[in-house]
Amino acid sequence: MVSNKTYVTEALILNHRDFGETDLLITLFTKLFGKVPVVARRAKMPNSKFSSGVQLLNRVQVSIGRGRNLDHMNECEIVDSFQGIKSDLALLSKGLFSSELVVNFIQDRTPNIQVFNALLKNLNDLEMQNNIEQSMIWFQLQLINFSGVLPEFIVCINCNENLQRMDHIFFPSIGGINCANCSDINLKDGVVILEESLGFLRHIQRMIRSSKSYLFDKNIDENTLKDLNRFLRIYLSYTAERQMKSTKFLDLVN
Ligand SMILES: [Zn+2]
Repeated sequence: MVSNKTYVTEALILNHRDFGETDLLITLFTKLFGKVPVVARRAKMPNSKFSSGVQLLNRVQVSIGRGRNLDHMNECEIVDSFQGIKSDLALLSKGLFSSELVVNFIQDRTPNIQVFNALLKNLNDLEMQNNIEQSMIWFQLQLINFSGVLPEFIVCINCNENLQRMDHIFFPSIGGINCANCSDINLKDGVVILEESLGFLRHIQRMIRSSKSYLFDKNIDENTLKDLNRFLRIYLSYTAERQMKSTKFLDLVN
């Protein structure tokens, strides 16, 4: 619902920071309007009507008033506070990692309902402890895909020949892999990617190109899951061009 002065939408609370003596500046990931910074006035005061609503990772229904410079929160009603995630440090670190990725990848006020739904599914998976490692990989792939930075996993980035089934060196700076004939000794940012991980990523890439939804229809062993998470972390960190706070937190917890 939109009027000139207010708009109402579902949102996830991505982060918040102090804003003056009594206010908080909240980063919302709204379903309809993308990532939006809003001021929650007097949210730091005791008995504030916002105090429980604006906690990190909450799924909320918000009414937002348009401001000249910054919008402000009028109402904030909790839809789901994900208590299961918040009561488990390992789950919390993963949830914060995912939300921090959205902060770093998604531009303000650019609607991206696919990424919104992906983050919501990821948080629901964490809450239900439903295939957690797979959910983290699935979310990161959705984010990369719908941010337009999915690398090339099927053919050589230089000559377009199909890559052989073997371990390869992936170069974040070129968004892909050079075949043996095209190897470039000048590239310094290479990261090893195991044959099994590459096989899975190719499978995903083919499904994306044929516009099929990609759920985990392949069984993936524990080692490959770990390797995929390692690889995606490196690629995402490179692409976001900065090491994210929550990556450090995740490493600390793990
Ligand atoms: Zn080549």
